[in-house]
Amino acid sequence: MDLLNTLVDKGLRREPLSRAEALAVLGTSDDDLLDVVAAAGKVRRHWFGRRVKLNYLVNLKSGLCPEDCSYCSQRLGSTAGILKYTWLKPDEASKAAAAGLAGGAKRVCLVASGRGPTDRDVDRVAGTIKAIKEENEGVEVCACLGLLSDGQAERLREAGADAYNHNLNTSESTYGEITTTHTYADRVDTVQKAHAAGLSACSGLIAGMGETDEDLVDVVFSLRELDPDSVPVNFLIPFEGTPLAKEWNLTPQRCLRILAMVRFVCPDVEVRIAGGREVHLRTMQPLALHLANSIFLGDYLTSEGQAGKADLEMIADAGFEVEGADQVTLPEHRASAGGCGSHESAGCGAHEGGGCGSHESGGGCGSHEGGGVCGSAASTATSSSTAAPQAGEARTDLVAVRRRGAGTDLAPNA
Ligand code: SF4
Repeated sequence: MDLLNTLVDKGLRREPLSRAEALAVLGTSDDDLLDVVAAAGKVRRHWFGRRVKLNYLVNLKSGLCPEDCSYCSQRLGSTAGILKYTWLKPDEASKAAAAGLAGGAKRVCLVASGRGPTDRDVDRVAGTIKAIKEENEGVEVCACLGLLSDGQAERLREAGADAYNHNLNTSESTYGEITTTHTYADRVDTVQKAHAAGLSACSGLIAGMGETDEDLVDVVFSLRELDPDSVPVNFLIPFEGTPLAKEWNLTPQRCLRILAMVRFVCPDVEVRIAGGREVHLRTMQPLALHLANSIFLGDYLTSEGQAGKADLEMIADAGFEVEGADQVTLPEHRASAGGCGSHESAGCGAHEGGGCGSHESGGGCGSHEGGGVCGSAASTATSSSTAAPQAGEARTDLVAVRRRGAGTDLAPNA
């Protein structure tokens, strides 16, 4: 396809796509899907080789949020049966982080539910960052605490945070249908505050909330303008007990097209598959590694992911390699500008997502939520179900609320 050749050329030269080109990627047919993946894969390999960065979510404070983000299992009025607990102590958070790092993660994403932190909360998280950094040399730490007030990003930076995650989630024009307790502009403001404080900005989206192709292109183009170093792509996990519980709109093919579009629009940026990976990509997860260069290891914020060991095996089987702590994530031109993964900031060496992405989306960070499946229910279901899933079919069998790791007495999945 001429279109794909053009998009590869643009991706390799970091030339902006037009909106029509981005929409055309989303509009491709299933017959063309492997060609789309192959084309976007060229761009991915040009900037990131075959490396896959692993990120690990630590949910510092779960549930009981006063905000009303419709996609979020931690929202005001949510009846989802998630874990609810207040702030983990620094040593508890550090222990959870260590499990993820031992499993191969190089970034820890510290996420807390709520509209945004108080100054006291920031001090508390500063202590947690310090504890994690003292015990794990070279670790990248990203904070995801909601909307930031003046001075808080600087305080987090001083405490050693490398990155800050806050997702835009959806287009400006539909934001008010998803959340009423804060605005799209509030979210943009926080990403800009993180940037201005020298934190590596992490900001992404949630697909599958009933949005149009135009909405998806709008939010990805807005992200491009904000110029984050990492973009988590969440696929909505429609939690029972939330307003979007019936929004099963995604197919594996649709998810791949979305990831390809994000890769073409943000060619040299860390594109991270966040919450909903196991639920919506299912057996197509390995193909998505040709598009994204980053995933979450193990569980999400409020839901379980497939076993960490299965993540590692998938990466190896697909012919990719886990990015080491000594490898710089971002391409040279971004890393030398101080982005995460730079020697300087990453000394972290280097700050999202995953993480967190948004406070939620289902759990993966990347957003506060967004994701989370598997492990148990999900992986079992994908391997033993005999009926072929239909497009857009509700796969509640793949959604398992997190019952292990942070906030519990059970070992984390890493
Ligand atoms: S996404 Fe964050 S702010 Fe919104 S309801 Fe969930 S925890 Fe609260």
